[in-house]
Amino acid sequence: MAYPLRIAPKACSYFSIANLLVLFGVYLTSLRTNEISYLSWFIADLCMLSGFILLRRGTQRLFRLASSLKSDVSLLTITALLMLTTPPSAESSTTLGILFSLMASATFLLLAKDNFVALRTSANKYVAIVLLSPIAILGITFLFRAVALLMIPSIGTHLATIQTPEAIPMLWFFLIITLFINVIMMGNALTRLVQKIRLQADKDYLTGLWNRRSVHQQLTQLHHFWLREGKEFSLILFDLDFFKQINDSYGHQAGDKVLVNTASTLSKVLRTTDIFSRFGGEEFLVVLPVTDTKSAVIIAEKLRETLQASTLTWQGETIDVSASFGIATIRHEDNLEALLSRADNAMYQAKQTGRNNIRTSPA
Ligand code: GH3
Ligand code: MG
Ligand code: MG
Repeated sequence: MAYPLRIAPKACSYFSIANLLVLFGVYLTSLRTNEISYLSWFIADLCMLSGFILLRRGTQRLFRLASSLKSDVSLLTITALLMLTTPPSAESSTTLGILFSLMASATFLLLAKDNFVALRTSANKYVAIVLLSPIAILGITFLFRAVALLMIPSIGTHLATIQTPEAIPMLWFFLIITLFINVIMMGNALTRLVQKIRLQADKDYLTGLWNRRSVHQQLTQLHHFWLREGKEFSLILFDLDFFKQINDSYGHQAGDKVLVNTASTLSKVLRTTDIFSRFGGEEFLVVLPVTDTKSAVIIAEKLRETLQASTLTWQGETIDVSASFGIATIRHEDNLEALLSRADNAMYQAKQTGRNNIRTSPA
C-alpha cells in the first residue's frame, strides 16, 4: 500500500521482501518429511530468519536509525554454521529449533528496541510500549520456545515441527502475530509520513529555517513560560540592506542564494536552543530563550559582523551583504504583538541611522 503512495518506498520494499521470505520459508517448512533435506530445513530456516532481519532493517531505514545489518548478518552466519553441524532432518529438530528460536528471539527483541527508540520521539513512553508489544511478545515467545526445547527435548517434535496437529495453535499464534507486526509496520510508515509533513509545514522551503507560522507557535510557548515562571527572552529582528538592489543587479536567483547563504552562515553562530526563522521576504527573526538585552546585543553584534564578513560570489562577482538589526526583550506589559512591534521599531531605527547596525528597544 505504501509503495505506490511513495511513503518510504525503500523501507516498504524491505518489509515486502521480508514478508515474501517468511512466506517462502513457511512453504519450504511444510515440505518437511522424515528424509534429510537441506531445502526444507536449512534453507527454510534461513529464509525466515533473513525475513526477520529485513523487517528490522526496514524499520531502521524508515526512522533513519543506524543500520545493524552487518551485525545481524554476522549473527545469522554463526547460526547457519551451527545449524550445519547437525544433519537437516526431523532427528535434529530440537537442536535446529533451539538455534532458530534463539536467532529469531534476538532479532525480534532488538526490533522491539528499535521501534521503542523511533516511537519515543513522537509518542509517550507507554503508548510506544503498547505499540511495540506484539513484537516483544514474539521475541519472548521464541525465547521461551528455545528454553523449552532445551529443558524438555521430548517436546521437540511438538514445538519444532509444524506438520503435526499439535502445532496448529502455535501456527495460528504466529499468523496472528505476523499480521499484527505488519499492521505495526504500516503504522510506522504512517507515523514517519506525519513526522515528515509536520516538519515540512514548519520549515521555510527556501532556507530550511523555521517559518513564520512555526516561530509564532514557539514564541507563544516562550511567552507562557515568561508569564508563569518569569523566564525572560529576547528577539533579534533583522532585515537585509538594499536587497532589492541585489535582485535588480544580479537577478532573483542571486537574491535567493543570498537568502540561503545568510541562513546557513548565521545558523553556525547561534546556539541550538535559539530559534532562527525566516519571518518574511528578506527579514529574519531570532528568538533567544533565557536571554537579556545585554546578551542579545552581543549575539546581534556577532551576527552582524559574520554577515558582513561573509562573501558570496555570483557569476564571478562578489556580492556584499549586510543587515540592520532591532532588539527587544520581553517586558511585563508586553503581549507578543507589542514585543514584535518594538523589535520592528528598533530595526526601523537601525535602517534610519545608516543600516548595517544594531538598535535596541528601550527596556
Ligand atoms: P532596505 O535596506 O530598506 O531593507 O531595502 P531593501 O531593498 O532590502 O527593501 P525592499 O523592501 O525595498 O525590498 C525587499 C525586496 O526583497 C523586494 C522583494 O522582491 C525581495 N524579496 C522578497 N522575498 C524574496 C525572495 O524570496 N527571493 C528574492 N530573490 N527576493 C525576495
Ligand atoms: Mg531589506
Ligand atoms: Mg524587508
